[in-house]
Amino acid sequence: MNYNTIDFAHNYKRRRFLISKPWILLSSFCAALLIGYTSFAIVDHNEEDINAIPFSSDTLLTGVQQATIASISSTHPTLDNFSPTTVAINKPSGQPVTVQPGDNLSLIFARLNLNANDLQEIMSLGTKTKPLLNLYPGQELRFYIANGRQVDKLVYQINQSDTLTVSRVDHGGYQALIAKKPVETRNAFASGVIRDSLFASAQKTGLDTKVILELAEIFAWDIDFSLDIQPNDEFNILYEEQWIGDKKFRSGNILAAEFINDGQKYQAIRYVDKDGTAGYYTPNGMSMRKAFLRSPVKFGRVSSHFNLARKHPILHRIRAHKGVDYAAARGTPIRAVGDAKIISLGKQNGYGNVIQLQHGELYTTLYAHMDRFAQRLRKGDKVKQGQIIGYVGSTGLATGPHLHYEFRINGVHKNPLTVALPRALPIAAADKPQFIARADELMKQLYNYRRTTLVLHAEEEAPQEKRKGA
Ligand SMILES: [Zn+2]
Repeated sequence: MNYNTIDFAHNYKRRRFLISKPWILLSSFCAALLIGYTSFAIVDHNEEDINAIPFSSDTLLTGVQQATIASISSTHPTLDNFSPTTVAINKPSGQPVTVQPGDNLSLIFARLNLNANDLQEIMSLGTKTKPLLNLYPGQELRFYIANGRQVDKLVYQINQSDTLTVSRVDHGGYQALIAKKPVETRNAFASGVIRDSLFASAQKTGLDTKVILELAEIFAWDIDFSLDIQPNDEFNILYEEQWIGDKKFRSGNILAAEFINDGQKYQAIRYVDKDGTAGYYTPNGMSMRKAFLRSPVKFGRVSSHFNLARKHPILHRIRAHKGVDYAAARGTPIRAVGDAKIISLGKQNGYGNVIQLQHGELYTTLYAHMDRFAQRLRKGDKVKQGQIIGYVGSTGLATGPHLHYEFRINGVHKNPLTVALPRALPIAAADKPQFIARADELMKQLYNYRRTTLVLHAEEEAPQEKRKGA
């Protein structure tokens, strides 16, 4: 079957064996990316280093193409419809207290005029009652109070899966119990085609914005999402969802993904190595990442290109511009473009505050006019790709705040915007057999899901064709 002829405008969702009614979801891929950027940064800031994302919000903004997303798993038959009944049956008693901004448990106890000794005893239980130290505004606590001031029971829903219950025991004192609802990880599938139409609401996509952002992040090393995206570009992804009972808790990692850009197919497989480091690789084990970020600033505009015959703006004479300038606000973070060792760090005429990095044997990069260096960095230190090494400024010969950035191979200056960047390290030889087996299995799953989607699509499409003919 030639999938190019298939119109993905109609979307099909399915969760496991439950086949739901087709659902049309039109939404802007890039708007989703933009909105998703913020939520991703907040939700997932401790999971992966978002500094390593090789594109800026500008990149996400400028694409105008639109994606149609069909998520097989995003139909959520939730308990919402039943909750009034549930509430009526299990109507909780006790006194509800909503956590206010700036609140803590001792303020709440004081407000309710509760016994301060009870608070002390509850907190002395240690680890189990520790979550009570991190209350968030809007959360609810439920107090069961006896004799006006005595706490008999305290219930606190820590998050969607965990509930803490502290109860007074007969012989005095309290006991604490954390009940955990089981979280189930399920695989889900999403597929779509990028349209050349207008922005639409990102909220309408069946796909979580976090997942869309992750998808873009995986392929951003090969595809420039502001320049390269074509109408009818296609993506297919297999990803994880975490469920509590019949309710989706959150989206998890992308396990396998495919992006077809202008007819060129890119595929990526997630693999966690023996050290627990997760990465994305092609099905034959090459890294999806490059050894270097294309740009050391995320939110910078190129203000001066690499030019071997440029008239210097301050010196007013021909002087080669052996790097690229990024205009950016003073204080904008500057990232190391690759894993490196600091070979110089200090003040130099013209360059101002400047850092030079050595990446392996062949490559060096240079970052000039910095306002200041990142704290505690010293010559000889090792830095990781994406690590902040300093901040944009205008020290040295500079007309305004900007980063002057140079890229050298074997000491020879190259244009940082066009130089061919080598791939990061492939799958380790020791991991390869295991990786290949996993990659095969995941790609098989991805294609099975995709075939099911196409079959569903064809079945739905047939009656429409007939109607058209009649
Ligand atoms: Zn410059």
